[in-house]
This record gives sequence, structure tokens and C-alpha cells, in this order.
Amino acid sequence: MGISQASVAALGQLGRQHFTVRMPEPANHLFEVELQVREVQPQVPLRLRLPVWTPGSYLVREYARHLQEFQAEDEAGIPLPWRKTDKNTWQVQPRSPLVNIRYRVYAYELTVRTNHLDLTHGYFNGAALFLYVPGREGEPHTLTVIPAKPDWRIATSLRPCPLTDGEGTGRLGQSFLAENYDELVDSPVEVGLHRRETFEVEGIPHYFVVWGEGNLDLARAVADTQQIVTTAARFFGGLPYDRYWFIVHLSAGGFGGLEHKYSTTLNYSRLEFHQPEKYQRFLSLVAHEFFHTWNGKRLRPLALERFNYDQENYLECLWFCEGATSYYENILLLRAGLLSAADFLKILADQIKRLQQTPGRAVQSLSEASFDTWIKLYRPHENSLNSQVSYYLKGALVCWLLDLHIRHCSAGQGSLDTALQDLWQRFGKEEKGYSESQLREALQAAAGADLSQFFQDYVDGTVELDYDFYLQPFGLSLKTSFSHPNPSPYLGLNFNGESNRISSVDMGSPAQQVGIWAGDELVALDGFKVSAAQLPDRLRAYQPHQVICLSVFQAEQLKHFWIPLAPPRPDVYSLEVLPALTPQQQHLQQGWLGVVLGF
Ligand SMILES: [Zn+2]
Repeated sequence: MGISQASVAALGQLGRQHFTVRMPEPANHLFEVELQVREVQPQVPLRLRLPVWTPGSYLVREYARHLQEFQAEDEAGIPLPWRKTDKNTWQVQPRSPLVNIRYRVYAYELTVRTNHLDLTHGYFNGAALFLYVPGREGEPHTLTVIPAKPDWRIATSLRPCPLTDGEGTGRLGQSFLAENYDELVDSPVEVGLHRRETFEVEGIPHYFVVWGEGNLDLARAVADTQQIVTTAARFFGGLPYDRYWFIVHLSAGGFGGLEHKYSTTLNYSRLEFHQPEKYQRFLSLVAHEFFHTWNGKRLRPLALERFNYDQENYLECLWFCEGATSYYENILLLRAGLLSAADFLKILADQIKRLQQTPGRAVQSLSEASFDTWIKLYRPHENSLNSQVSYYLKGALVCWLLDLHIRHCSAGQGSLDTALQDLWQRFGKEEKGYSESQLREALQAAAGADLSQFFQDYVDGTVELDYDFYLQPFGLSLKTSFSHPNPSPYLGLNFNGESNRISSVDMGSPAQQVGIWAGDELVALDGFKVSAAQLPDRLRAYQPHQVICLSVFQAEQLKHFWIPLAPPRPDVYSLEVLPALTPQQQHLQQGWLGVVLGF
């Protein structure tokens, strides 16, 4: 929960680490940062470090590559000697107890985990902007933000704090207090012209801030978000904070969200809100990041109990942190009345289709995907589909099957809900990290059954998910079919958009076996020019097992490949209600979906 009164009283003045962020020339995309470090020991080297990653996004992003013009001075403004000791560490030689650090940070990457500054706004993520003093991470940090223009407003979950530094800092900007460095880093700041709405749930204020132009219906988005918050509060038995900020960036085709303890930043394509499916996807994103308020931010694995900002923090349970959150993003919408049960089943079926079209599901397990996220998930390449599985996608499906299995094993008494609520009470509330085995024990306790085979096959192994086995007790089954009455034979080529350049080739597919690979450029089919967009339709003229001649440019050389076509692969997946449901099936379906379908 919030800051202790003791630390507020102790402050009222600058923290031992006080930052000032200015943006005097937003057109140059440079934030100017000043850090005052007080009570340092003269003559003892002072180390300052910039994180290499930000919690919630598991990739070493090397934020220091955007830091420039580092300077250090004493209180008289006389330069102090300094040197870099590694890629993200600066070492200053202080002469007196106060050290002033100045640097600029280039900010022109509009994502939820980086910094962005232009003529319309400034947005920063603490990990990508603020140096820390090793050993002082647990101390309060203060921050003054001076906007580029007088009419720019500041939106952040940081607690406002009138500072009395005797120099009137607050007169120019606005000052904030973070109880420690973690909170500073976990509280992104949006500065600029934006729309802002406020609503309350359980008497707690929530702010919904939108930067950027687009066709978002703000009133509707706010009302729906309020429903999501209310539903999540009911799920976990209350809200674990005293304020919460939704910061929404409307961008050109962007997508992403990052969870924080008192806020979230969401990036979404500005002109897609009028399409019902795209609006629903936006709400799923809102629900996903908000669910992390519990699962991921406060209820988190032991490996993340204390963040190490200087290197990778390895963990195996992202299949649960991200997978369960991805499953619950739509469960929340369903329970909030923002998604019908039929549409929910369509989303699940679509997720199954995406997983079944990922050859890498037979190569990498969920625990491996989690551990290796630092070098794999965020660094996709042409062979990723063949060698990797997403812990978001497969994690959501495994958590779904786990939910069904627990409900079935416990005759509807337990569920993934009860497991999460139990974990929240035992670990999340106190922010005690859980171990992988404590997580699995809690899931088994909810089922009242041994789940070791389930974990071995689906979390630690690559056994195909047996959907029908878990669906049958709920009166449902998985059906596959073709969207076209005359489906194209299977070749195994994948393209990005309209480009004729092959983006990836399925391992083991007919095209791969003859030697076609990613990067090759499609030219002709049986001697006639063909584009990527035309290829599926042109292939309909052929029967499986016929041999075609596909011509491609491979490293600028024209090459011809003779390929035996394979039978078409289903492209429609659906979850269908069995013809007659037993009372037990109806009971379980009602408990899971809130309705019984097909009646
Ligand atoms: Zn997430």
C-alpha cells in the first residue's frame, strides 16, 4: 500500500537522491536529467548505475546506450572527475557531501518500456531514465518534472509532494515522492496534452489518461474499464492500492502494455476502435495489464522478489505470470459482461489454431520458453516459429486446461480462481515470492489431485495438448474444418503482408525439404509469375501429391524447385457443444462460463 506517514514527515524536503527532469527542446527528443546526491562521503568513489532492463519486459535493452553528455559537479559547480567502469556504471570522485549529476537521454522510441519525447508530449519509464546509487535503492527518491510548455499536464501514479528546497523548484514544475527506487522505476510519467477522466471503484480514484489522436470513444472505454476494475476487485476481494492510473498512448499501428503496481501504460493503434473485434482486443489488453496488479506485480515468483536491474533475472514460471494473466484477460471481460460466452469460446479456438500452427510447440517447453525469454521471445527471427513457443499463447491455453481440469477433479468445488485467490492470500498480499514448487502445490491443492503428470507433459514437456480430454466433462469438443470448399494443398511457406519475400518456412514442410528458406523471393509457379497474395488461390488448381515447380530468387540467383504438395491443413478451429449434455456437464459448464450453451 501507499507511503508511510513517517517517510512523508521525514521528507518535505529533497530526498538524498533528487531528480529533476526537463525537456526544454522537445523537438530534439532529449530529456535533460539532473540528479542531486546528498550526504556522500568525500573522496570515496560514488557509483551510479542505469538498469539494463525494466520489470515486466524480460529483455536486456541496454538503456545506457541512449544516455549522453554525462557530467558531475560539486555544489559550487566545479566539475568532478568521473569515468565509466562498465557499460552502465559511472564512477565519480566526490570532493564534498553533495554531488550534482547531469546527463541527457535520447527518447524517440514509442513503446510502453522506453522513452518518447516530441512536440506533443514526453513519456518516460524510470528504468530507462534514472540512475541509481547502489546501496541506496531502498531510500525515498524525490522527483521534480518541468514540462516543456506551461499547458502540459503531468500524469503519473507517483505521489505529489510539495518540496521545500529553498529554491522554489516546485514553482516551475511539479514534484513527486517515491518510497524507494523500485517505486520510482515502476511509475512511468506522461507529460503533455492529454484527455483525462476519473472514476471511482470502492471509493478509490482511478485515472484514465489518453495521449494521441484517434477514434477511441473515451466515455465508453472509461465505463468498460470501470467494469473490468470492479470485476477484478470482486475476484480478489478488494483493491490493493489507494490510486491507479491507466495511461493510454494512441499510436500508428502500435500494440503493447506494461504492468505497474499503481498504473499501467497501454499502446494501441489509434484508428481501430470502431471495429468490434479490435475494440474487444483493446479491452482484453486493459484487463490483462490490470490483472497483473495482482498476478505478476504483487503475487510474483521468488526470482523477482527483489529485482536485479543489472542483468537477466531468470525464472521458469512466466507460463503462469503471463499465461494465467492472458487467460484471465478474457475471463474478466466475460464476467464483466463485456464478452459473450460464444465469443469467449471463439477466442480460445483461435488461440488453439495459432498454437497448432506453431511447429516450435514440439521443440520448446513452457518452462524453457520462460527461462530463455531473455534471448528468445523478444528476439524473434526466421526460425522462431520452428523452435519456440510463446508462454503467452501456450501459457494461456495450459492455464485454461488447468482450470477445466481442477474444476473436473474437484467436481466444481475448486478452480484456477480458488488457486489464484489462495496464492494471493498466502504470497501476494505480503509480496512474498513463491517458488515453482509452492506454485504447483497450490494448484494441486485446488484440484485435490496429483497434477505432476500434467506439469510434466504440458509445462516441462512438449506433449500435444489433449483438448478433447479436458473439454468432454464440460460438454464441449474441438472441431477443425476448412474455410474454403476447395482448400489449398500445403506447402509450408509464410509471408508478411503483401511482400513476396518468404518470412519463414515450416520445418518439415514440403517447401523446406526441397531447400526453400526464409528470405527467398517468390517468382513463379510452373513458369507463370505469382505473388504471395495470389499463391493460395493458384494452388487450389492442384491436388495434394502433385508436383509443382516453384521459382524463387535465392540470394539473387533464380532457382527452380520441384515440390510434391501435401494435403491441406485445417484453418478453422471451433469449440462446439456436444449434442446432449449430462447434468454433470451442464453443472461444470455453468460453473465455468456462467451459462449453459446450446439450451
Ligand atoms: Zn502480461
